[in-house]
Amino acid sequence: WTSRDLPWTKNLEVYNKIVFGNNSFRPNQREIINATMSGCDVFVLMPTGGGKSLTYQLPALLCAGITLVISPLVSLIQDQIMNLLQTNISAASLSAGMEWAEQLEILQELSSENSKYKLLYVTPEKVAKSESLLRHLEILNSRSLLARFVIDEAHCVSQWGHDFRPDYQGVGVLKQKFPNIPMLALTATATASVKEDVVQALGLVNCVVFRQSFNRPNLWYSVVPKTNKCLEDIDKFIRENHFDECGIIYCLSRMDCEKVTETLRAFGHKAAFYHGSMDPGKRAFVQKQWSKDEINIICATVAFGMGINKPDVRFVIHHSLPKSIEGYHQECGRAGRDGQRSSCVLYYSYTDYIRVKHMISQGGLGQGQMKMGYNCKASSGRMLETNTENLLRMVSYCENEVDCRRFLQLVHLGEKFDSTNCKNTCDNCSSSKILIDKDVTVIARQLVELVKLTGERFSSAHIVEVYRGSLNQSVKRNRQETLHLHGAGKHLTKSEASRILHYLVTEDILAEGVRKSDLYGSVSSLLKVNRSKAASLLSGGQSITMRFPSTI
Ligand code: ADP
Ligand code: ZN
Repeated sequence: WTSRDLPWTKNLEVYNKIVFGNNSFRPNQREIINATMSGCDVFVLMPTGGGKSLTYQLPALLCAGITLVISPLVSLIQDQIMNLLQTNISAASLSAGMEWAEQLEILQELSSENSKYKLLYVTPEKVAKSESLLRHLEILNSRSLLARFVIDEAHCVSQWGHDFRPDYQGVGVLKQKFPNIPMLALTATATASVKEDVVQALGLVNCVVFRQSFNRPNLWYSVVPKTNKCLEDIDKFIRENHFDECGIIYCLSRMDCEKVTETLRAFGHKAAFYHGSMDPGKRAFVQKQWSKDEINIICATVAFGMGINKPDVRFVIHHSLPKSIEGYHQECGRAGRDGQRSSCVLYYSYTDYIRVKHMISQGGLGQGQMKMGYNCKASSGRMLETNTENLLRMVSYCENEVDCRRFLQLVHLGEKFDSTNCKNTCDNCSSSKILIDKDVTVIARQLVELVKLTGERFSSAHIVEVYRGSLNQSVKRNRQETLHLHGAGKHLTKSEASRILHYLVTEDILAEGVRKSDLYGSVSSLLKVNRSKAASLLSGGQSITMRFPSTI
């Protein structure tokens, strides 16, 4: 896909320079454009700021017909259209809030012979619910004027992801109705299982996948115990490291946002809060103040983030536990877009885990649903399981005092990272804590046997429960209290057991899979045994050593 000898190559160079004002292509941009212009379905994993927009906007100019872009938020769409206008590209959008007459006018202009529009942006619910949009797409298609479908923030399709939006599921209809139109799915965050789920839900065929390293070398990660002096600690941290610099503090609830803001103000910081229950005008005002450096700290729920492009965010602090490693990685990713050193500090307490777990069980699920006000109580028990599993992975990340934070995040996103490349830029790599090697072969073997014994149908969190001898409902329902390995690991803490289990995943001895479980196609994770890799461990030919904090 690197070829510079395709019919459109010359135009690519010219348009990239003249229309978009870029001197060259960024990593993967040319390759993605070549693949999509060749008519392939393409899946792109590229960190935020990597330059995803160009990969469909440039082809949109070079191909006959319309490029349909599905994008989750009206505000994101408006930003994109404004940016395009500055480069003299005319794009239109349809969203639920628009007058019908206005929508009709746009649709008619689109199907006219010499439409001025090259791109049409729509929110996902438009695709799912608007018959007339689909009819117009059919007309365009019959005249060979439907160039390409682009699914922005494609991870929102997956229930397994951290930002599931039910409306995205309706987007699957596009490939069913128009199997020959190439589709380009773009995201800045997806684990391997989320990617699989998205590919299936969208109906991508033999898709070409581009992925870039998600490592952000200029971000410094640490996890700090959260005490009841947390706000004093945050004040001190900012004062000592980032005074008067710009940052985000993520809080769990609207009340937390307001409380944190008030305290930081009393400490002399220029702070404001931002959450989903504020009216949109006020929210936009706060965001603007922050963008213009009139305030430097924004205390926000996860509602604040998508589409934030401030380059000089020097710190992202998590005042409480994020709901998933994926979400955490993405929230941290809003720091240091300009490449300068920036800090990501997470304040962790087990009490917060209980709080978040409670919120999840009450139906406060993914951030997408919360933002859009869906009634989550109606969603299935599987969904709850998925969210709980994601949360437990986050807990085990926080409780891990040994492994490189980059390694842990990237492994979760399906990327191998050699932690010697961290160069002491995370708390664990730079810690002076004494670590000792322990032989965990017996434990590892028992865990693998347990996964096998239970039929390779359970999540890692469940396996840890059985191994530590839990008698919870799920263990009993599956009659696992009678297994000989039930309770064999009761001398381990939950975080030790899950760390060893996850290590086996990173060594490919166990593999994580996805199970489609019910009528509604919801998914949950499960562990499988990689027979060939596990053979030597099971037969006694391989021993496993891991480092643990010395307790002496
Ligand atoms: P993403 O959607 O991946 O977060 P964007 O498409 O918004 O990223 O691009 C981020 C920034 O990078 C934008 O300001 C864009 O103009 C710029 N950019 C994209 N491609 C190039 C390029 N080839 N050369 C220079 N700047 C680029
Ligand atoms: Zn590290």
